Amino acid sequence: MTTGTRSQYQACIDRAQRLGGTTRVTELGGGAYCVLGSRGDVYAVRVDPEGNFTCTCPAGRHETACWHAASAWLLRVAQSAAGAIPAAPPEPDATVRARLLAESRERTRTITELEGSSAECFGSTVAA
Ligand SMILES: [Zn+2]
Repeated sequence: MTTGTRSQYQACIDRAQRLGGTTRVTELGGGAYCVLGSRGDVYAVRVDPEGNFTCTCPAGRHETACWHAASAWLLRVAQSAAGAIPAAPPEPDATVRARLLAESRERTRTITELEGSSAECFGSTVAA
């Protein structure tokens, strides 16, 4: 069963997409966005750290979902989708394990060498 709120948000997202969606949004940074309204007016949309949207339009001032906030939401979704694509494929577990094992072997060898040289040092000190 679809809740009223959910369908209200969906209607806002549909309207945002019809009106150009993210093309009307200018990101100001810090969770602030400027959205160009359908009548050429500009509204400020803000997103708090909890992900709650507020808008300065008449609907937004009454804490009603509006398509300005939906446009900003669409932009954020697009950005997070773009950021979700990894730059390099993740290393398989076996590769990581082999690399860590090789690194720990390398460290062990270094420690052994250091211990060897200090023993030499100690030995030569005693001999002198
Ligand atoms: Zn609005």
